[in-house]
Amino acid sequence: MIDIINLLPDNIANQIAAGEVIQRPASAVKELLENAVDAGATSIQLYITDAGKALIQVIDNGKGMSETDARMCFERHATSKIKNIEDLFHIRTMGFRGEALASIAAVAQIELKTRRPEDEIGTFIEIDNSIVRKQEACACAAGTNICMKNLFFSVPARRNFLKSNPAEMRHIIDEFIHVALPFPNIFFSLTSNEQQVFYLEAGNYKQRFLQLLGNQYNTKLVPVKETTDYLDINGFVGKPEAAKKTRGDQYFFVNNRFIKSAYLNHAVTSAFDALLPKDSYPVYTLYIDLDPSQVDINVHPTKQEIKFEDEKIVYAFVQAAIKHALAQFSISPSLDFSLNADIMQTEAVSQPFTQQKQETVTASELYKKFSQKNQAHFIEPTESTGLKNWKDFYESRLTNESVQLSVERPQIETSLYSNASQLPSVNCQLLNTYIVASAANNKFLLIHQQHAHERILFERYTANIQNRQVVTQHNLFPVTLELSPQDAALLHELLPDLLLLGYNIELFGKNNFIIQGVPADVLSGNEKHSAELLLEQYKHFSSELKFNQRQKLIHCLARQQAVKAGQSLTDKEMRILVEELFNCDMPSVAPNGNPVFVEFNDEQLLKMFGR
Ligand code: ADP
Ligand code: MG
Repeated sequence: MIDIINLLPDNIANQIAAGEVIQRPASAVKELLENAVDAGATSIQLYITDAGKALIQVIDNGKGMSETDARMCFERHATSKIKNIEDLFHIRTMGFRGEALASIAAVAQIELKTRRPEDEIGTFIEIDNSIVRKQEACACAAGTNICMKNLFFSVPARRNFLKSNPAEMRHIIDEFIHVALPFPNIFFSLTSNEQQVFYLEAGNYKQRFLQLLGNQYNTKLVPVKETTDYLDINGFVGKPEAAKKTRGDQYFFVNNRFIKSAYLNHAVTSAFDALLPKDSYPVYTLYIDLDPSQVDINVHPTKQEIKFEDEKIVYAFVQAAIKHALAQFSISPSLDFSLNADIMQTEAVSQPFTQQKQETVTASELYKKFSQKNQAHFIEPTESTGLKNWKDFYESRLTNESVQLSVERPQIETSLYSNASQLPSVNCQLLNTYIVASAANNKFLLIHQQHAHERILFERYTANIQNRQVVTQHNLFPVTLELSPQDAALLHELLPDLLLLGYNIELFGKNNFIIQGVPADVLSGNEKHSAELLLEQYKHFSSELKFNQRQKLIHCLARQQAVKAGQSLTDKEMRILVEELFNCDMPSVAPNGNPVFVEFNDEQLLKMFGR
C-alpha cells in the first residue's frame, strides 16, 4: 500500500484560498483601496483597464513599506494590523486578515513600487503566480503603487466565469463608492480605459455624497447626527420626495466599513413611517461608529456581513436618530410633529454609557425606551397635524399618476382571432382590475387585467424579436439621457438587447446617451421616462423564474406597457384583451409565473350557498 496524501505546494494552496477573497476584479479593487486607506493615504488613484481584467492599479501617498515588508506583504497571514487575538476586538483598520495580497499574488501578475517617506530609495517587486520574479531598489514617489495585471491568467476556469466588461465595471464602481463614501477627507479618482469616471476632491461628508450620488440630492438631504456613549450615528437621509421607486442609494457603514443589513434597513424605513410614498425606498448614507468590541467583523472573508453584540440596541438607535432628524429638520412646513422638546435630554442620548448601564441595556431596557410610544424619540402626529395631509398628498399624487396613465395607456389592438364564438364572453369589470367573463359549460373566469396584458405583450414582443418584426419609431428630436456612472455602465451592457427590443440608444460622451428611437408601443413624449423606467425595473428585477438578460428586458417592457390594475376599461377594450389573451400560447400564467385568471363553475357556487 502506498500513502496517498500530499501537502499542496504554496502557490496552489494560495490559489485555492484566493477563491474566498478574490471572486472578481471588484474584490481586488476593494482590497487594494482598503490597503491604501489603512496606510493613511490622503490621495488614492484607481486605474482600470478592461473592467479590471487587464489591469487594476492603485496609487497612494500613504506610509509605504520597507524593503522587507514589501516582500513579506505577499505571504499568507502577513499583516501589520494585528498581533494577537485580543487585537481583533479593537480593530480600527479595514484589513487585518493578511490574506488579500497573498490571494491577489496567487491569481494575477503583480508589480509593486513602494517607498516610506523617511527612506530615500524605494523597492520594486514583480510577482506572478505567487513567485517573486524580480526584486530591486528603485526610485519612486513616497507611498505605494501597485499594479495587478491579467487577473486569473493562471486560472482560466475562473477567468471564464467573469461577466461582460460593463457588468464587472459596475461591481468595481460599487466597491469604489463603498470605500470613497466614508472617507471624504481622502482624495479619490477612478479612471477606466483612460476615461475619468470619478474625481473626488477631499471635502466633507455631504460633498462626498453629492460627488458620488449626484447633485440632484443637494436640497433633498436631511442630516442625521446623534452622539451617545454607546454609538454615534452620522450621515444623511433623503427627504421623502427624494425616495426612489427602487432600492437604490442605501448605504450603511459601521466603523467606516460598508455593510449590508436588511435589519437596519428596516429600522430606517420604519422611521419614515407614513411619510414615504407607497412602494418607495428612502435614500440614505449612514455612518455608525461604535466600540469595535461591540461588533464582530470577522464573520465573513469579505466582511460585508458583520455581527453586532446587541443588534436590537443598534436598531433602536438608528430608528430613533432618523425620526429625530426628520422631525428636527421639519421636512415640510405643513408638518407639525408633537415632538418632545427636550429630546436631547433623553437618558439614552445624553448619559454616559457605564458598564452598569450597558448591562441594563442588554436586558433590553433601552430598546423598550426607544420603541415605546411615550418616549421622546417616538414621534407621532397630533390630531391637528399635517401628517394625514401628507398621506392625502401622496395619495392624490398617486391617483393623478394613474389618471395620467389611463390617458396615456396603450391601446389594445384588435386581433384577427377568428373563432370568437368559443371565447369567454366579457360580462363586466370589477374593482377596475378584474374582468368577469363567462365561458362554456357553466363556468366563469375572473381575469386579472394587468397579468393578462403582460402575458399578451410578453408573447408579442418575443415573437416580434424572433421574426425580426420589431418596429422602432425614430424620435424627431433625439432625447438625451444623463445617468450616474453605475447606471451608465448597466445601460451600456444592455444596449444590444435593447436594440432588438426597439430602443435605439447611443452612447454620447461620458455617462450620457441619446435616445434615437423607441419601440412603437412607447408613446411619444414618453421616451426618456420609458428608458429610465426600464433601467430601474431591470436593476431590481426579481422573479422566482430564471430569465436571461433579453427575457428580463422583454418582461420589463411588457410590464411597463401593460394596462395596470385600477384602470377602468371600456367593453371593447376588455373584449379585445380577452381575445388576445386566449390567442396566447400560455394564457393562464403571467410572465412572472402568477396566475392570469381563476376559474369558477356553478357547482362551486352552489356549494358556497349550501346547496
Ligand atoms: P491586511 O490588510 O489584512 O493586513 P493585506 O494582504 O491586504 O493584509 O496586506 C498585508 C500588509 O501589507 C498590510 O498589513 C500592510 O502592512 C501592508 N500593505 C499592504 N498594502 C499597503 C499599502 N498600500 N501601503 C502600505 N502598506 C501596505
Ligand atoms: Mg488589506
